[in-house]
Amino acid sequence: MAKRIGILGGGQLGLLLAQSLIRLGAEVHVFDPDAQSPACQMLAHSSSFAWSNEEELSKFFEGCDCLTYEFENVESELLFRLEKQKPLYPAANVLRVTQNRLSEKRFLNNLRLPHVHFAHFKYEDLASNRRRIQEFGLPCLAKTTFGGYDGKGQYFLQTPEDAENFANQPNLQGVDFILEEAIQIAAEVSCIVAHSKHGQEIAFPVMENIHHEQILDLTIVPSVVPLAVQVELIKLAHEAARRLNVVGLLTVEFFLSRQRPRTVNVADIEGWYIMINEFAPRPHNSGHVTMKACDISQFDALARILMDVPLTKPSLVSDDIYFMGNLLGDVWIGQQRNELDLSPLKHFPSIKDVVIYGKKEARSKRKMGHFVGQALNYEQAIADVHEFREALSVPPKVTQHSNR
Ligand code: ADP
Ligand code: MG
Repeated sequence: MAKRIGILGGGQLGLLLAQSLIRLGAEVHVFDPDAQSPACQMLAHSSSFAWSNEEELSKFFEGCDCLTYEFENVESELLFRLEKQKPLYPAANVLRVTQNRLSEKRFLNNLRLPHVHFAHFKYEDLASNRRRIQEFGLPCLAKTTFGGYDGKGQYFLQTPEDAENFANQPNLQGVDFILEEAIQIAAEVSCIVAHSKHGQEIAFPVMENIHHEQILDLTIVPSVVPLAVQVELIKLAHEAARRLNVVGLLTVEFFLSRQRPRTVNVADIEGWYIMINEFAPRPHNSGHVTMKACDISQFDALARILMDVPLTKPSLVSDDIYFMGNLLGDVWIGQQRNELDLSPLKHFPSIKDVVIYGKKEARSKRKMGHFVGQALNYEQAIADVHEFREALSVPPKVTQHSNR
């Protein structure tokens, strides 16, 4: 009988993971409150109930041999009870540490892993907010400890006016934040490692990420940061995964700076200051590039761990540069259509793959798809991402129908 693998969350990461699982003969079950989510639409076995519905979640766990999650905002306390029924990879404790920015930073601090200077900030009245932001120092970022993604729940406080506006919002009263030093970022990179329950450990090549308005815009691999820095990044990612007892994937997002930051916990390799920004114990948006750039993708690696199949070391399939660009809802809105017209692809031979997630509604900044391409150099890769996306964003010309 096929092994039944459960995925909590039916977004694009769940859908792409399901595809890798199916290739290994799994029967994939997905749980997402939204029956229209990409994986729920595509898979035969889906359950759509609220995340708080413990009874249905328990039934879902019972119907699977083991489970994973592609989405971090599931209540981890609930998962502690459910993982007693069936194994969850990574375990609920990994989610508990990483889903809350404060516990994540404290974990890094306790283990002396490099991280950004931070402080817990409980939002109170104007006077005490003001005082505490002043003590911490500008420029800084205020981030909600729970529930943020793609820059949501974040406030960039550059000037005293920004700080004053942030400090004076009664609707935020009682909300838990962290304050973080604003880093002069030279590069943002991610490293995905996969650890099996038998102690096998692999790492994907370090990926370089460029953000726009705090949302990942494009990813390039291989990274151009010095090799000694990349070796240290991979070492840190493995160490974090071991300390968290991850069975599954751990994505580690790093900030690299050429200017010494305030934090005492920083790794300095040849004048590159390394800080861990955050963890994601699941497949990652930047890792989409591995589907074309590597001989085994991030989804294949997780599928093998869940199916108890040995891992193989990922290698880049050629010496070229690989890039991934996100397609946000804005592209659909720009084209003024529900279904994207992909005909501009004919002018972009460098784009090798386009993936559309099948989300019903195109909203601004909503991740709707991505593309992966291959270029000979870094500059060309960046130019191709921007030019392809611009070509896609233009409304298609209305075809003139002749009457004859
Ligand atoms: P999310 O969960 O939304 O990905 P992040 O903490 O990774 O949250 O922040 C999103 C992006 O915002 C980062 O990738 C980075 O570009 C920018 N950013 C976040 N924190 C800082 C910081 N302390 N200094 C400078 N830029 C930051
Ligand atoms: Mg992030």
